[in-house]
Parts: sequence; C-alpha cells; structure tokens
Amino acid sequence: MAQKNLLEINECGIYCPQADVYIDPWKPVDSAIITHAHSDHARPGSRKYMAHEDSEAILKLRLGQDIQLETTDYYTPHTINSVRISFHPAGHITGSAQIRLEYKGEIWVVSGDYKTEGDSTCAPFEPVRCHTFITESTFGLPVFKWQPQEEVFREVNKWWKENAAMGKTSILCGYALGKAQRILASVDPEIGKIFVHGAVANVNAALQQNGLKLPPVTYAGPDIPRKEYPGSLVVAPPSALNTSWMRKFSPYSTAMASGWMNTRGTRRRRAVDKGFVLSDHADWQGLNQAVKETGCERVLVTHGYTAVFSRWLQEQGLNAQEVQTLYNEELEEI
Ligand SMILES: [Zn+2]
Ligand SMILES: [Zn+2]
Repeated sequence: MAQKNLLEINECGIYCPQADVYIDPWKPVDSAIITHAHSDHARPGSRKYMAHEDSEAILKLRLGQDIQLETTDYYTPHTINSVRISFHPAGHITGSAQIRLEYKGEIWVVSGDYKTEGDSTCAPFEPVRCHTFITESTFGLPVFKWQPQEEVFREVNKWWKENAAMGKTSILCGYALGKAQRILASVDPEIGKIFVHGAVANVNAALQQNGLKLPPVTYAGPDIPRKEYPGSLVVAPPSALNTSWMRKFSPYSTAMASGWMNTRGTRRRRAVDKGFVLSDHADWQGLNQAVKETGCERVLVTHGYTAVFSRWLQEQGLNAQEVQTLYNEELEEI
C-alpha cells in the first residue's frame, strides 16, 4: 500500500505509527492503550498505559501497583501527534472501551471485546461511525444466538431455588472479571446468602474502588462455618471447579455461565451439572449489527471465528479480511 495505514498489525500488536502507540499490545511496548483489563488484552511490561478510569484499580491489581497509568473518561479526545484518540463504551465488562482514532479525516475504530446487550456492570455498547472497523469475532458463527439476559437469570434463580429447597449449595462458575460481577448484579438476592471465591472477592474490591455497585456478598473464607453454605449461592471462577476448595460446600450442585455453554459446548458442559448460556461478547446478530452501525467500508476481523465471519462480511459486499492477533477468547469465557 502506497500510503501508510493509520493502524497496522506488527509483532507487538495493533500499532498506530503516526501516534506511536499500540492498542492492547501482546509484547511490552513504550506506549499502550488498553481496551479492557482481561489478561489477553492487558499485558504487563509496557512503559506506560492509558485506559478507562473505571479500570484503574483492576489494571493495577493485575499489572502492578507501580505501572505508569493515565486514565480517561469516555469521549474526551486526546491528541497525540495530530491523531485524535478517544474511548467509547464497548459494553463488555466494567471500563471496557472501543478505541477511536482519527487522522486527517480518516477514522478507525478498534472494538476490543464487546457485547451489544446492556447490563448494569458497564456502560452500554455504542456504535461509532468509522471508515475501518477492527472487530472481534469470538462468537462469529450463526449458531451463537443469546437469549435476553432476563431469561437466563430467571433460569439461574430457578436452579438456585431448587437446590436450596434440597439443602444444597449452588456453585456457579464464571470468569472472575466481568462474568462474576454480572452474575452478582443480576441474581435475586432474596433467595439466599451469596458467597464469593477469593479471586472474585479481589476483583470485586478493585472494581468497587472505582465505583461499581454490587449487592452485599461474603468471601467464602476459612472462617465461615460449613453450616452457613446450604441454600446459598457461591460464585467462583471456572478454575475452582473440581478442586478441594469445593469440598466445604457439600452437598452442592455446580453450574457454569458462559457463551460456550450452548450446543457447541458439550465437551465443556460435561464438567458441570448445569450450563447457562451467558456471554460478555456479542452473538452473531450482535456482531453483524455492530459492523453495520459503524457504517464502515472496511472490516478487519480479529480473534474468534475470523474466517467464517470475514467471509460472510465479504458476501455482504464489505471489504473484510482476517487479521492474526494473540487475543485468546477461550481464556476469558472459561
Ligand atoms: Zn475481554
Ligand atoms: Zn478478547
């Protein structure tokens, strides 16, 4: 290409040569703009970081208290070497952002991870008009179609109530950052007590420091007598499944909340008694809607079902291509 692109992918990540900044770099760089605090997007070792203000405490928890971090709200433009850079709500997790870059009238948007259905733990996704849209495609297959979350949580509440009636503890697993808070903010606290695993308690504390509102929950620490657990809900990361940590909750029933709990998730579903299809990513329809609403001419498709989704977009008449990144959506949802 004769003219330099506003963004390019190199061995360190998504790079803007004009502003000399990276977005979600996978190797340490001089200047990193972070879309959100999930570990595949926010990696340690860069000299300085810029991120949304709601993710300040969680980024410091994960990357180190001494990182050099500049925070911003949504929409305020920051001009770096004539490139106007702004953050826009991605609806994925608390503080998640799409990054908009504008230079000489040309606009690019990097989606990071996003979800088109709103929830109370983050600002709802907003489409941003652009010429080139770099989109994720974690669930970029037509088979992925989410139910409204009200329906999912009605099922979760029903499952919890049934377990409670049988004197069982309900252990619901979901990713510690994002999914866990969405669960806590959405279940019916009238059903019983809510406990959390230590990993979830740490993330909660960081997000609450930046203003996230959650219902009261108790850390399921060693000082809690076992008789407290029957009838309660315990929210834990998937890594706690089938570990000795779970013994104290016996008798219990287990469940997992993830986008992978749908028809294609049989292998993963076998590990738990029940699966709830709940994702912090857009489903097939959400991805298509998001692309359309940007009004873009060109789409670059990153992590997920990149081949299928980019081919589909080409068939819709868009200039679409796959790009290789090191983001790992599996890590997030499981
Ligand atoms: Zn993510
Ligand atoms: Zn991701």
